[in-house]
Amino acid sequence: MKICRFNGGRLGVLHEGRVHDVSQLLERLPAQRYPLPQKDLLIEALPQLREALAQALPGAQHHAPEAVAFDAPVANPGKIIGAPINYQDHVAESKADAGIAHGRTITSIGDWGLFLKAGSALIGCGEPIVLRFPDRRNDHEVELGVVIGSECRQVARADAMAHVAGYTVALDMTVRGTEFQSFRKSIDTYAVLGPWMVTADEIDDPDQLDLWLSVNGQMRQQSNTRHMVYDVARLIEYASSFYTLQAGDVIMTGTPQGVGPVVPGDRIRAGVAQVGEFEIQVAPQYAGAATA
Ligand code: MN
Repeated sequence: MKICRFNGGRLGVLHEGRVHDVSQLLERLPAQRYPLPQKDLLIEALPQLREALAQALPGAQHHAPEAVAFDAPVANPGKIIGAPINYQDHVAESKADAGIAHGRTITSIGDWGLFLKAGSALIGCGEPIVLRFPDRRNDHEVELGVVIGSECRQVARADAMAHVAGYTVALDMTVRGTEFQSFRKSIDTYAVLGPWMVTADEIDDPDQLDLWLSVNGQMRQQSNTRHMVYDVARLIEYASSFYTLQAGDVIMTGTPQGVGPVVPGDRIRAGVAQVGEFEIQVAPQYAGAATA
């Protein structure tokens, strides 16, 4: 099942190529009182909602995907986890390009560990990426996004995949520089997920998926998740050895070679086979600080 959020908080299911509006099922989520849990209630409840979602389809209003603005398929990830240098060919290009490494010695993901992207950086593909520092190098990184479905900590590799709710297409936008990754990759709009989440049962093998990214129609990145250094199960095992993972946590699994800069006005297309594809605009210019 392909589950999406659209038009400012509507809940949708992709069915026969159309976005079916099943927003009424959001009312089945448990009512909340402060303090709010650090997890995503919809993702956590999906196993219980599956049947009702399917039953709601025949009577649902539906829209062409082109006619809706997609929100991030996960509204409230407690964590967005990033996997650095997780494709061998990207390790090589990072060593060769001083504009990527910025003086750091490129070693391995086992040496570097993971990083976190701020929740405030999250957007769906229906809104533009806004370059905060257009005078610096701002790179695209297409990645397979893994959405955690249930709580786990120190999970064994053999049990890891049981904790996956689904997969989405992720863009780990990055301003290059000397600052730490979590700082540079957490700018507002620099974490894109979309267009929907496909549930794990529909993916044969997440470690055998083509992924690609083009800018203004020119192919920049083309690879397959089989080239990941740490595969999906290992990333879950690794992340959960440090963090408790919660429903709705997202792991951006790393990017293959071909990262490169975008500039205001560019159009990015990013896709993962069996998962989906989206187009997103880089805003023509940064509007400046809000006068709040
Ligand atoms: Mn990345």
